[in-house]
Order: sequence, then structure tokens, then C-alpha cells
Amino acid sequence: MIRTQLWASGGGVQSAAIAALIAMGEIKPDLAAIVDTGREQSTTWSYMDAIIVPALSAVGVTLHRIYKNQFEGRDLYGGADNNTLLLPAFSTRGGEVGKLSNWCSSYWKREVIKRWANRNGVDLVDTWLGISVDEIGRMQKHRGQKWHTRYPLIERGMNRGDCITLVRRMGWPDPPRSSCYMCPNHTAQEWRDIRDNKPADWHAAIEFERDLHRRDPHAFLHHDCVPLDQADLDERNGVLFAHCDSGMCFV
Ligand code: SF4
Repeated sequence: MIRTQLWASGGGVQSAAIAALIAMGEIKPDLAAIVDTGREQSTTWSYMDAIIVPALSAVGVTLHRIYKNQFEGRDLYGGADNNTLLLPAFSTRGGEVGKLSNWCSSYWKREVIKRWANRNGVDLVDTWLGISVDEIGRMQKHRGQKWHTRYPLIERGMNRGDCITLVRRMGWPDPPRSSCYMCPNHTAQEWRDIRDNKPADWHAAIEFERDLHRRDPHAFLHHDCVPLDQADLDERNGVLFAHCDSGMCFV
């Protein structure tokens, strides 16, 4: 039976490289979509609208922007008591610093894409994810028959540097990193980028955390467990976390 080829764009560097491969005619998905969580960094959409969508449209591919709220009722809290924070935030609730699970990846992105694809009548699906060879550990095994994953960049032996080279060869500007503006998985460099270059996103993240604290004063966006606007964002105080822009949200 034919499997539907579904590209789940993460919106970042690797996804731009997949878009380039499509624009060059090397690969062509049956369906292409990116989920809008409602909290994406502002630069993601400006890059999408200016560069990616027109390039794909020129080769007959529509990149659908799927609004998470139309396919998922859960937002920040879930669980049996509807009081479990679904973000990978840092928490001092137990006395020690702990990190919560990133349920948001599943609820806000992966499940949303699946529901949208089902609404489009898919049967068996190969979901394309923008993971490059330097992130090979993020590949996952197939579970069941319906939803399989494919990795077009890994199939071509491409690493992140190759992705940037390809995007530049297309004449496109370097893609911005893509993730929610308040994602606790940001590195120090990403937080600085948001603070210094995307002031609206930075202020939204600070406000977001203040809102969080009204319900749970133990939850923080930065690993030092201090309010974001007081955090040390120096590189030496950085911690490496998984990002969502390469498709991590979908594995
Ligand atoms: S970018 Fe971060 S906050 Fe947003 S869905 Fe992914 S893990 Fe969750």
C-alpha cells in the first residue's frame, strides 16, 4: 500500500534545508505542514512567509500552517488533576532542581500534526523530520504500521553545516532558530539572541514566566531557577538542551 509522504516542518535550519531540497525538485512530499503553537518566536513566521512558502509554492507544494488550538484542547496544564505543567520547565518544588517533561512537544505538535493528517484522510504515513546526521541519536524506531518516520537529511548524509550551505546556495538568508519564545530548553546563546534581537519575544517570555509563578512559584524557564530577567545568560553558564526546531518535537 502506498504510504503518504508527510513533511512535518520544525521551522528551523534543518527544515529550511528540506524546503531547499523540495524547491530543487529532489524530493516532494504529498503533504507539508508546520504547527503554530501560538508561542513561536516571531522570526519563524517572517522567514516562512518571505522565503519558504513562496519557494515551495513555486514547485506546487503548500506548506500548511496548523493552529494548535484547533486540534488540541490542552494548553499549559494537563494530567489527571489538570495541574501538571506540560512544559520542560525547571522546578524547585521537591527541594532540588528538577526538570519537567516536555509533554508540550507531543500535545502541541506531534499529536496536532497527526490529527490534521487524519482529517486529510491519510492511511499509512511516512513523516519526514528535519534531523541531520549530527543529531542521529534523535532518530526513533517505527512504532506500529501507520506512522513511520523518515529523515531526508540523514538519508543524504547531511549535517547542520551542510544544511546552512545548501540554504545559502539557494540564495536564501540564514534561517532563524525555531522554537517557542519561552522554551525552557533554550541555551544561553538562544536566550541572548531573543533578549538582544527580539525584544517583543523577550518581554513575552518574562511575562509568561510571571504568569506561571502566579500558579506555581517553583517553576522557572532558566536552569538557575531565578526569574528570566535576572538570569545569567553568559555562555559559561550555558547548558545544552534538545531543541525543537530540528523536529525534536516530533520524536
Ligand atoms: S519549543 Fe519548547 S516549549 Fe515549545 S513545544 Fe517544543 S519543547 Fe515545548
